[in-house]
Amino acid sequence: MSELYGGIEAGGTKFVCAVGTGPDDIRAEVRFPTEEPEQTMAQAVAFFAEQRRKEGGLTAVGISAFGPIDPNPESPTFGYITTTPKAGWANTDLAGTIGRALGVPVGFDTDVNGAALGEWRWGAAQGLRNFVYFTVGTGIGGGGMVNGRLMHGLIHPEMGHMRLPRNPEQDPFAGSCPYHGDCFEGLAAGPAIGKRWGQPAETLPPDHPAWDLEAHYLAMALHNVITVLSPERIIMGGGVMGQAHIFPLLRQKVQQSLNGYVQAAAILHNIDDFIVPPGLGSLAGVLGSIALAQQAVG
Ligand code: ADP
Ligand code: ZN
Repeated sequence: MSELYGGIEAGGTKFVCAVGTGPDDIRAEVRFPTEEPEQTMAQAVAFFAEQRRKEGGLTAVGISAFGPIDPNPESPTFGYITTTPKAGWANTDLAGTIGRALGVPVGFDTDVNGAALGEWRWGAAQGLRNFVYFTVGTGIGGGGMVNGRLMHGLIHPEMGHMRLPRNPEQDPFAGSCPYHGDCFEGLAAGPAIGKRWGQPAETLPPDHPAWDLEAHYLAMALHNVITVLSPERIIMGGGVMGQAHIFPLLRQKVQQSLNGYVQAAAILHNIDDFIVPPGLGSLAGVLGSIALAQQAVG
């Protein structure tokens, strides 16, 4: 019997579950909307139970979850989604419920750390010991590795909630974060773009001024992350980054903002290879979860 791992990308809008061992070996995948916790977790368990019957085994499951979460294995609430504003999901024992139902070890981390691990194993962060993975979608999250280890700490980084300078004359939109107003997520996540300009972000044409402003805020955040963490690469994923034309603009604005101060060839000369889209595309999350499962037993 060969090893088989399960991965869950537990998002605030949808769950993606898959079984396999890596990018060239995804045996099955299913996606369903994130509804009530009991029902949603039962759907995931049912999928893995069926795959186990078909494949003859299931070694471990990995979960990359929307948060905030408790990723500390020493904590009594390890594996929980903790203070999320998402209705019904606060204080949900996600990893424990799934692990007990299936009787397998569970790897558990934030959605962005999961995706970062996937990118490190098989994607755009191979061979790196310090890098950052951002998602810019319904919310903004950032994770990654420092000195070869996924970033944890007091809890886990909340890079989407860093504060950025906003010039109210250039951008009167006060920001949409329920906790901070004009933090990074409040200014630059998909819903903030939609509210600022009065139409969904994906309907704004490439020459709309929204994108120059978006690239500006992204560049401010990347300036901060580069100066704080000194990453060797920054991977930018999530729905909003589907606007491929943001990348050249963002790279240029990061160079302008740093103003030659960080003397690294990666920034001064090879920035196309420094700020990049995910190597695994939209599969980073679920593949990263499979990598978390492998890490949980390896
Ligand atoms: P989630 O964050 O829920 O996992 P996504 O990463 O797809 O999902 O992010 C959804 C957000 O991204 C929405 O606010 C949507 O308006 C925005 N979005 C999705 N696709 C695009 C696109 N091609 N261009 C700009 N914005 C997009
Ligand atoms: Zn915030």
